[in-house]
Amino acid sequence: MGAKLQDITGNRYGRLTVIEHLGVRGRRVHYWKCQCDCGKIVESSGDNLKRGKSKSCGCISKECSWNKTHSMSKTSEYTIWNSMKMRCVNSNSEAYSYYGGRGIKVCQRWMDSFENFYEDMGKRPDGMSIDRIDVNGDYCPENCRWTTNEEQSRNKRDNVYIEYDGKTKILSDWAKEINISVQSLYKRIYDYNYSIEEAFNLRPHHNKSQNSSGEKNPMSKLTISEVKQIKKLLLGGEKIVSLAKQFNVSNSVISNIKNGHRWKEVEV
Ligand SMILES: [Zn+2]
Repeated sequence: MGAKLQDITGNRYGRLTVIEHLGVRGRRVHYWKCQCDCGKIVESSGDNLKRGKSKSCGCISKECSWNKTHSMSKTSEYTIWNSMKMRCVNSNSEAYSYYGGRGIKVCQRWMDSFENFYEDMGKRPDGMSIDRIDVNGDYCPENCRWTTNEEQSRNKRDNVYIEYDGKTKILSDWAKEINISVQSLYKRIYDYNYSIEEAFNLRPHHNKSQNSSGEKNPMSKLTISEVKQIKKLLLGGEKIVSLAKQFNVSNSVISNIKNGHRWKEVEV
């Protein structure tokens, strides 16, 4: 009976993501449970969603009328408040896995309104950002303060979660695994802004054997991604000598890669 149900689970309409079908109400009106980007769960009819009548839990129009009177929406405090909520409740947010995904929440008082947040935290001092005193604790007045980024990174150095190769570990564990110091890894990612890929695969800069008139160090360590690159270039017909020069290793390292004596396990 009736029109066949079109499954819109997973679709996005404005800020709403459809979670599940709730059933039919009234005269064949399908209702859907949706999650708003702000974290609230609402119910809406399929028609309203598809026609663009429901675009949020109501937070959009609330923000609009609120903006007119407060015009704070362009302030950094507002941006901070908004992105704090995003990384805790919106599973599509880039940083979600380090926050909401780890069970970190925003207290109800702050979820409810920016005004509450502003009242508790006050104006952000120049150059400072929001910091949780206990890095595993929630965003709430008792656990938050404004601090400089420097201070924050020092506190968090050991508590930064990094996802690489499908695994999430804390920075110091990764550093151990790839055999570099926590400080170096931290610097690569946060001071030099390398991509995670680069930070994990860069060779350390210290070249102990450089004293012997610039001779290449046959023991130079190659990273997996470099070996992959070398293998690809070898397949493309690149000469051993030229690869040795490019990657600053001895000819024998390259030929060992070529004949499979070393790095055999690395696949192109
Ligand atoms: Zn909302």
